[in-house]
Amino acid sequence: MTLQPAEGSIEPHVAENYSPLPVLVATADGAWVTDAEGRRYLDLLAAYSAVNFGHRHPELIAAVTEQLSRVTLTSRAFMNDRLEPFSAALARLCGKELVLPMNTGAEAVETGIKVARAWGYRVKGIAAGKARIIVADGNFHGRTTTIISFSDDEQARADFGPYTPGFDTVPFGDADAIAAAITDDTAAVLIEPIQGEAGVIIPPEGYLRRVREICDEQNVLFIADEIQAGLGRVGATFACDREGVVPDLYLLGKALGGGILPVSAVVGNRDVLGVIRPGEHGSTFGGNPLAAAVGLKVVEMLETGEFQARARELGAHLASALEPLVGHGVTSVRIAGLWAGVDIDAKVGTGREIAENLRGRGVLVKDTHGQTIRIAPPLVIRATELDWAVAQLRLVLAD
Ligand code: PLP
Repeated sequence: MTLQPAEGSIEPHVAENYSPLPVLVATADGAWVTDAEGRRYLDLLAAYSAVNFGHRHPELIAAVTEQLSRVTLTSRAFMNDRLEPFSAALARLCGKELVLPMNTGAEAVETGIKVARAWGYRVKGIAAGKARIIVADGNFHGRTTTIISFSDDEQARADFGPYTPGFDTVPFGDADAIAAAITDDTAAVLIEPIQGEAGVIIPPEGYLRRVREICDEQNVLFIADEIQAGLGRVGATFACDREGVVPDLYLLGKALGGGILPVSAVVGNRDVLGVIRPGEHGSTFGGNPLAAAVGLKVVEMLETGEFQARARELGAHLASALEPLVGHGVTSVRIAGLWAGVDIDAKVGTGREIAENLRGRGVLVKDTHGQTIRIAPPLVIRATELDWAVAQLRLVLAD
């Protein structure tokens, strides 16, 4: 056993559960970050869509600053005067009745699972301990022990068992497989409407509508994990909107905190979310007034429709810039709003190598699953900045 920090590391005291690109960000503004030596980089990751509104958006900073001078944390042992306005606004944005606030995305997913099971026992009448939830292969819903229990990513799972039972996995994008997997014990179907970590995987047109129909026919809840796909990224408020579908529960996180605080929520109607009774679930920080103040401002910004429109317009622009790269170092491109999965031809390098070379040219992207890079810039980015970033990618691919 050694007490020495890892040799040669820039972060010798930080546990190595990530392998970050070697960029030491010191400040950030809009779509740009600056490292400790003053080098600027265009951020095409936006903290996995948590920074949808850009770094330090003035309206969000103002909302947080104002709240900092009032009250920051009460716990839910008492009420605070920010939680109801935030919940009312978020419920309205979702067309739902109730909001259960948490902090991280994984907590929202865990909450959704608990709500679905409680609904299964108390409303649907599933026998005690028997409730099951259908999930999709290739999913990413977070890192807790229960969530990794239904992941098929060995890196996320291995050596972290024993695993939580009660989940059935079907192929993503195949609604018939969901119908076939449903039994009397099925409480819910839990899916990402577009899979983010898997590489921006867009299901076939009609899939979400069919899942909605199947859930209605079979008395099963439809839970949409919109933590990465939702809140403007795909050119609509929610990825489910692309098919005009409303799930029973929305799981939200990331951008809900404006890139400033961890804020997550489960949003649904009283007949579902109302199954949770006082004392059964909670979080010390969930629904805190600082988080509620920033969440309220996020909802107000989304209510203007401006960010959804930007994602649509800039996404079309990005698509026309990226598509000509197919056959020139890129094997395929998938785009939804301002969100792209770009598969790199193995002949020119891995996703990680492309990300490292882009960093050298002032562009930050994140690789996923070996050959894919994901492009998810802050929605405040300009078209000319996107053009410049794609030009850097073209140069890297040609190197
Ligand atoms: N669900 C989805 C779809 C995600 O993409 C993520 C994070 O990437 C999570 C859940 C987990 O969120 P968090 O990292 O805030 O726990």
